[in-house]
Amino acid sequence: MNAITENTAGFLAGLPAGVSLVAAAKHRRADEVLAAVAGGVRIIGENYLQEAQAIYPRVGRRVRWHFIGRLQKNKIAKIVSLFDLVETVDSLENAALVSRYAQAAGRVMPVLLAVNSAGEPRKSGVLPGEAVELAAAAACLPGLRLEGLMTMGPRVDEPGQLRPYFRLVRRLARDIEARRLPGVSMETLSMGMSDSWAVAVAEGATLVRIGTLLFGPRP
Ligand SMILES: *Cc1c(COP(=O)(O)O)cnc(C)c1O
Repeated sequence: MNAITENTAGFLAGLPAGVSLVAAAKHRRADEVLAAVAGGVRIIGENYLQEAQAIYPRVGRRVRWHFIGRLQKNKIAKIVSLFDLVETVDSLENAALVSRYAQAAGRVMPVLLAVNSAGEPRKSGVLPGEAVELAAAAACLPGLRLEGLMTMGPRVDEPGQLRPYFRLVRRLARDIEARRLPGVSMETLSMGMSDSWAVAVAEGATLVRIGTLLFGPRP
């Protein structure tokens, strides 16, 4: 069996029920992504619109597509037309653009808010102290549906050091839920990557974004 297919099947076998896998496919070829699909991947995460467009003709709609990269305003229209869910809404301005293009296409776009959980300068994502307010504003936009939160976490030496950041994001999700905003759910918490997914799952992740463990070291 192909190593990627094997890695994927093995990873999925160890993933607890209720947690879904996003194959983080940046810089991977279509055949690599298809090998992961053969191993059971149902969701592809892409950071770059162009890379998604390049492999889309071969991968198609047999998977769901999550946008997990930094949103650029001039790409949002095309992101909305290709992707099934945007994990990285980080400002009201970007949320409004997603909503507008989705509405124009007669759709409602499921989104997550990306949280800059360590409040790092120059990093994308809404600051923890502004997340509830952004959720409340996004709830008023007719072309999107807020379904949860996503975070990357800071660079750390040991995955266990990410625990407080994952915990903070889960608490923010609870705070947002407590607002009972119309149409808003917090059922999805996208947290954890190859080195940190187990800690993230222990802290309530329902979606883990995995690249290296499936595909091998980054090209
Ligand atoms: C690359 C990437 C991942 C996966 O990282 P690995 O360490 O290779 O598992 C997850 N999320 C985002 C946003 C990424 O860019």
